[in-house]
Amino acid sequence: MPIENTASDGQLRKEKLPVPKHVEDAVRTLIAWSGDDPDREGLLDTPKRVARAWKEYCEGYREDPGYHLSRTFEEVGGYNELVLLKDIPFQSHCEHHMAPIVGKASIAYMPQDRVVGISKLARVLNGYARRLQVQERLTAQVAQSIWDNLQPQGVAVVIEATHGCMTGRGVRTPGVSMTTSRLLGCFLDDSRSRSEVLKLMGY
Ligand SMILES: [Zn+2]
Repeated sequence: MPIENTASDGQLRKEKLPVPKHVEDAVRTLIAWSGDDPDREGLLDTPKRVARAWKEYCEGYREDPGYHLSRTFEEVGGYNELVLLKDIPFQSHCEHHMAPIVGKASIAYMPQDRVVGISKLARVLNGYARRLQVQERLTAQVAQSIWDNLQPQGVAVVIEATHGCMTGRGVRTPGVSMTTSRLLGCFLDDSRSRSEVLKLMGY
């Protein structure tokens, strides 16, 4: 069975995704476990919706984020200065509670003769964010993917996010965010490059 149906206009029709009965049953079990009645009218279609929503939250498993960096532009007129994409919003889910992680990322690299279209950095972020994650690994994976694929002089990734498992349960601390960073190459080795990039990112 197809996971995604592409219509004649090229749009993905994810709502058509068939949901196996055991997946639907699993969501019904979770609803009952939460204390509600899965047979209540308002909840009847919920298991199918939840199943399809999770396929979408986790669509990063079906792609190789590095692919977005495979098409590079080499003739950039010798531009080997900082490229920064700031405050890119993203959503992920933590692998410990499957609770939402909502945040923003700033991604920078110092090219070495090769640059990518700027939207590609956001695509790499989403490719890793749309999986079950921990913020530290997400930060490291985005940085490493840019490092491996573009072979730049340096990469800097800073992610700031709030975690549903912390704000909505456990210690219940709404508004508290966590910041993680990964610096590679010149941003790690050279303190002037590092302060420049962090300042431009607003840190
Ligand atoms: Zn969690």
